Amino acid sequence: MISPLMPTYARAPLEFERGEGCWLTTTDGTEFLDFGAGIAVNALGHAHPKLVAALEAQARRVWHVSNLYEIPEQRRLAERLVAETFADTVFLTNSGTEAAELAIKIARKWGQAQSPARHRIVTFAGAFHGRSTGAIAAAGSEKLAGGFGPLMPGFDSVPWGDAAALAAAIGPETAAVLIEPIQGEGGIRVLPHEALRALRALCDERGVLLMFDEVQCGMGRTGHLFAHEAAGVVPDVMMVAKGIGGGFPLGAVLATEAAAAPMGVGSHGSTYGGNPLACAVGLAVMEEVADAGFLASVRARAGFLSQRLAELAAGHPAVIAEIRGEGLMRGLRIAEPHAAADLVAAGRAAGLLTVPAAENVVRLLPPLTVSEDEIAEAVRRLDRAATALEGPA
Ligand SMILES: *Cc1c(COP(=O)(O)O)cnc(C)c1O
Repeated sequence: MISPLMPTYARAPLEFERGEGCWLTTTDGTEFLDFGAGIAVNALGHAHPKLVAALEAQARRVWHVSNLYEIPEQRRLAERLVAETFADTVFLTNSGTEAAELAIKIARKWGQAQSPARHRIVTFAGAFHGRSTGAIAAAGSEKLAGGFGPLMPGFDSVPWGDAAALAAAIGPETAAVLIEPIQGEGGIRVLPHEALRALRALCDERGVLLMFDEVQCGMGRTGHLFAHEAAGVVPDVMMVAKGIGGGFPLGAVLATEAAAAPMGVGSHGSTYGGNPLACAVGLAVMEEVADAGFLASVRARAGFLSQRLAELAAGHPAVIAEIRGEGLMRGLRIAEPHAAADLVAAGRAAGLLTVPAAENVVRLLPPLTVSEDEIAEAVRRLDRAATALEGPA
């Protein structure tokens, strides 16, 4: 018999009753150190007092009115995002996937306004932009798209890090290039800052939009409000979600005035997108994360994590082949024949939650509020997990 929940997930047998900061407690009272943060979502940890207060206060005022009316919380969040970034204008969504859908629409609308044949979008192998029919076509992998064809046409996928293939893929029908500055699901693959600058120059030279998917790597995760800031380049369009809601469903597409120019009244919409509850929480998240002192402290604690992970890897060369990532977005590439899923399971047995990714990588995505003591404790638990994988000496 099929379960009442459609069986699309292989869930770990854990049920959580409450959380506080970086800690989650199961219904049977076991405590876990959460280095997954709901897949880079709980940017300020669990039950952050300011987020709880923002949600409670808004819940007593008004939950939903629809975009038929002015929504002051939405306007304030958009103003804040514009003030902190390259963007001139913002559309609020409920998820990263919805942000991807709108980014694709903007690329096509903008492209066709330049010349009627321009609609194609260059994407990258290993990409992840969500699970909608458009987003799986954009990613183009068999794993995401198998059995769901015929796929939406108009995407050209190039190998990650192949500058020649990238330059060759941009043709007269290309409207945009879409890239995660750091691939998350793809295995914490960082595009070197130099390559990101070269990509910006290439897009300018060819006159196509550069679109960043910062759904996972954005919102302070790298120690910068957005990952691309460290490279000193800006996109024309950017997708944001995950951390921006701190656990409340919220996403956004940020764009320059030029990129968004063709998106007039009636060109896009959402019933829930930018509702007062989500935007009240998003504003509270922005208040905390878009603070220079907070971001500097993320970078400092990320440096501490780096050091500890280097020591961990040195002590377990047969299990940990490589440390990847930036800031508090780290990947441990697991040495074969060991499997990332086995280290995730061993971590869980040691009281630590992590997230697997492609390329046999285990992701560490703690709340941005994680303390040095919690980082040290997480690495001790990873040490126990790696030892368990090595088996009896
Ligand atoms: C998670 C993710 C998405 C999809 O976001 P959802 O909120 O799950 O729809 C898109 N792009 C990237 C890079 C992601 O990590």
